[in-house]
Amino acid sequence: MADYKSIIDLHPNPCVIHINFKPLYANQAFAEFSGLDSVSEVLGLTSLKQLFVEEHWPEADRRYQQVMDSEHSSQPEVIEHTDMQGNPQLAEITDALVYWQGQKAMCTYISVVTDRIRREEDLHRMALCDELTGVRNRRYLLNQFENHHKPYLQGRHYLALIDLDYFKSVNDTWGHVVGDNLLKQVACALSNLFNNRHQLVRIGGEEFAIILSADSEVELKEQLTLLQNTIRNACVQQKQKVCCTGSIGVTNYLSGDTFDAIFERADRALYQAKHQGRDQVVCSWGNCFPGSTIGQA
Ligand code: GH3
Ligand code: MG
Ligand code: MG
Repeated sequence: MADYKSIIDLHPNPCVIHINFKPLYANQAFAEFSGLDSVSEVLGLTSLKQLFVEEHWPEADRRYQQVMDSEHSSQPEVIEHTDMQGNPQLAEITDALVYWQGQKAMCTYISVVTDRIRREEDLHRMALCDELTGVRNRRYLLNQFENHHKPYLQGRHYLALIDLDYFKSVNDTWGHVVGDNLLKQVACALSNLFNNRHQLVRIGGEEFAIILSADSEVELKEQLTLLQNTIRNACVQQKQKVCCTGSIGVTNYLSGDTFDAIFERADRALYQAKHQGRDQVVCSWGNCFPGSTIGQA
C-alpha cells in the first residue's frame, strides 16, 4: 500500500481522495492543478468545492452520488476549470469508488487536456477553413448541407456561386501575391456583409459560394446587387487600384435536391453569366435580373 501511495504521490496527474468533498488525500500534482502551494493546503480545505465555482456544485454532487450508488467508476468527463490563480484549463475527470481506512470514499483522477482539446479544435477548424482567406471551405458547405440539410437550404434560402472575372489577368499583370491579397480582400468584404460570417465559403481558386436568405425576390435582388458591388469595391492598392468583378449563378432548393444537384444548377447559371459577358447575375429559374436569364435547369 505504501508503494502505491508513493507512486501516486509522485504521479504527474492530479489525484484526490475525499468523502463528500472533504479531502483525505491529495498528491502534489493536485495541489498544483488547484493553484495551491502544497498538499497540506489542499487537506486544510473544509470542502473541495471551494476549488470550483458554485454553478458546478450540483453537477459534482450528481457525479459523486452516481458513483457512490452504482459503485462503478464514472465515464471520463471534460470540464472547464479555473484554478485559484485564475488560470482557465480543461480537465478530464474520472471518479472511482475506493475504501479509505475502511470507509467508502471517492478517488478523483484528473488529466489536464487543455492542449489536446485546443489542438483538436484547431485541427477541426483547419479542416473546415480555407487557409488563404480564413473563410469556410467546400467541405464545410457539404457538411452543413448533409447534416442540416433542411434549415440550411430549404425555404427562402439560395445558393449563389461566385467566380471572379478574368482573375488570371490580375495574376499575370500584378503577380500572384497581389492576386492572393485581392482574394483575401474579396473574401473579407463578402464575409462582413451578413450577420453570419459562415455563410461564405471559398470553393477553391477564385470561386466562392454564399448562402443567401431572402423573403422576396426584391430582397434577393438587393442582396445579389450588394454582392456584385462588394466584389467591385474590394481593391488592392498598387500603383493603381487593382480590382475585379464577379459573375454569379444562383439557385434555390428544390424538393429532393442533393448537394450535387443544387451545386450543378448554380454552376450552370454561373457558366451562363460568364457566357453572357461576365459581371452579372443569372438565376437558374429564369429572369433574375433584366438581361440575365436562363431556363429551368
Ligand atoms: P473567367 O473566370 O472570367 O473566365 O477568367 P479567369 O481568369 O478568372 O478564369 P480561369 O478559370 O481561367 O482562371 C482562374 C485563375 O485564378 C487561375 C489562377 O491564375 C487564379 N487563381 C486561382 N486560385 C488562385 C489563388 O489562390 N491565388 C491567386 N493569386 N490566383 C489564383
Ligand atoms: Mg474559376
Ligand atoms: Mg474566374
